[in-house]
Amino acid sequence: MTSSSMNSQGSKNNQSKSPCLRIIPLGGLGEIGKNTCVFEYGDDIMILDAGLAFPTDGMHGVNVVMPDTTYLRENQSRIRGLVVTHGHEDHIGGISHHLKNFNIPIVYGPPLAMSMLRGKMEEAGVADRTTIQVCGPREVIKVGQHFSVEFVRNTHSISDSYSFAVTTPVGVVFFTGDFKFDHTPPDGQPSDLARMAHYGDKGVLCLLSDSTNSEVTGFTPSEYSVFPNLDRYIATAEGRVMVTTFASSTHRVAMLLELAMKNGRKVGLLGRSMLNVVGKARELGYMRFPDDLFFPIKQIRDLPDRETFLLMTGSQGESMAALSRIARGEHQHVQLKTSDTVIFSASPIPGNTISVMHTIDKLIKLGAKVIYGKDKGIHVSGHGCQEDQKWMLGLTRPKYFIPVHGEYRMQVLHGKTAVSMGVHPENVLVMENGDVAELRPDSLVQGSPVKSGVELLDSSRTGVVDTRVLKERQQLADDGVITVLTPISTDGVMVAPPRVNLRGVITNVDAKTMVNWTEREINWVLENRWKQLVLKTGGKSVEVDWIGLQREVESGLSRRLRREVQAEPLILCLVQPAPGGTRAYKPQLDQEPDKRQVVKKNAQTAPKATNVSVTNKNSNTTTDQKIKSESNSEEMPSGRTRRRRSAIG
Ligand SMILES: [Zn+2]
Ligand SMILES: [Zn+2]
Repeated sequence: MTSSSMNSQGSKNNQSKSPCLRIIPLGGLGEIGKNTCVFEYGDDIMILDAGLAFPTDGMHGVNVVMPDTTYLRENQSRIRGLVVTHGHEDHIGGISHHLKNFNIPIVYGPPLAMSMLRGKMEEAGVADRTTIQVCGPREVIKVGQHFSVEFVRNTHSISDSYSFAVTTPVGVVFFTGDFKFDHTPPDGQPSDLARMAHYGDKGVLCLLSDSTNSEVTGFTPSEYSVFPNLDRYIATAEGRVMVTTFASSTHRVAMLLELAMKNGRKVGLLGRSMLNVVGKARELGYMRFPDDLFFPIKQIRDLPDRETFLLMTGSQGESMAALSRIARGEHQHVQLKTSDTVIFSASPIPGNTISVMHTIDKLIKLGAKVIYGKDKGIHVSGHGCQEDQKWMLGLTRPKYFIPVHGEYRMQVLHGKTAVSMGVHPENVLVMENGDVAELRPDSLVQGSPVKSGVELLDSSRTGVVDTRVLKERQQLADDGVITVLTPISTDGVMVAPPRVNLRGVITNVDAKTMVNWTEREINWVLENRWKQLVLKTGGKSVEVDWIGLQREVESGLSRRLRREVQAEPLILCLVQPAPGGTRAYKPQLDQEPDKRQVVKKNAQTAPKATNVSVTNKNSNTTTDQKIKSESNSEEMPSGRTRRRRSAIG
């Protein structure tokens, strides 16, 4: 069952000209995170969820990963609204960022998610860029001319989670959002099975369903299944109890607060998101606990250990989170004691396993008792396993099926589950981000894809980190940087030895050899490429493509280092242009170079570009002095050199 086989079949027997619903996932497929889906019919675009993802290894300095939203930016005049299933970051985390880039007139969502979103929008300074409308169970909203969306309650690890029954001109599309079937959810609000079945009866044309746990057999246990286990560990703890979980798992957080109360402990909350989520959930009535259950963390020393319960962030080993700081002995108020019990009530997201294990090691080293791992029964997933997925398929009985929210193999397996439930294999479409599904009452085919990919945001969340920057950061991290500063005259000769500096480069090549290699590369470029690099010669004036020359030297040296020492440091070559007629420096290749050729205390600055032209006729003292002074300051910012061009040319 592949997407291509299904589609070629589909395209043969469809009326490709009749209007269709276009379903375009921009994020969340082939991955866990940044769920963003577009429904499009005629002139209407509706967005379903808009999440973010967290960086993987190698994305240095990247804090947040967003889907490429070029398609939405280009079609923003047609965006009628955004509907949100629930308040997890992978479903709402992108919204405040998108609002800076394109217009979303209105956002509909459940109370808790909308309250969290409001906080994020205020923080990002975009609170006035859209209207937020809170929706409840079985509420139906109209988005644009062609969509009406019913909020159908489901159960997940956070309160207030919904599936959508979207009525479109081609039929009903059921969009599950994240779900499992929890018949005893901690907030007492079970899934609206009746409504799901109602739509199944009426006829669901297409189902888009959560694939997260499609590799896991059986049912996902109820949230309450962890209650007795957590209770046992908390009840038998001798000293303080510290528990870490996702702040956004509000069901778990509520249970932990209940357990603290039951065991006569007062709760201190640590970590911004924990304080934030608990505050909002209490405000909205999702967590009903008396104020005196909580104590301000500053007063931790006034409380007996047996009565202390700390609920904190850091379940994923995030280095700045409360638990990680405690593990490093760097927390302002909490120092670990050997009598402490630390409970990890969360399982690590695949990419975080190593940092979680490191945190656990540190805690154990400090003498704490640490409870973690699958066998302890202290964590349960918020996503349905195969049997839950079958339930969803059984209730909605769709004609077409698109597995979403999961990595590729999970989507494929989920597709197989659908087939085992009676969906025709030709009617299952495994999509990737940016693919376009064209849905008509009697066909589901793939159209030409739209631009998709990632936008990486740095820690300031303002700058987009492009792939080139990321590659450079990776090179810096892996092999360091080599800077080369070389004065070259407009006659195309080296007028002084190059200065070569290594930062973070590990090599057994000595400085002499490095300078020697550099001189060879520069010489080679001057001898073989100079003609192409001289852009214009009118009369006595010469204009040189200095940037091109720098690139030639960089790639030559880069190739040589790859060949000679199997390293790929970032190479930054800067040419100091010297006037024509300056006496040439003759490198003594293959002989012992002068030791002074390597200047060690160089280059804390990284000039960007030196697109300079120097004319022969201006090789007077003033120009000489300028060049000299700039070489002394070891800095050639582009602005300054450009100014020089106008002064000279
Ligand atoms: Zn979720
Ligand atoms: Zn999710």
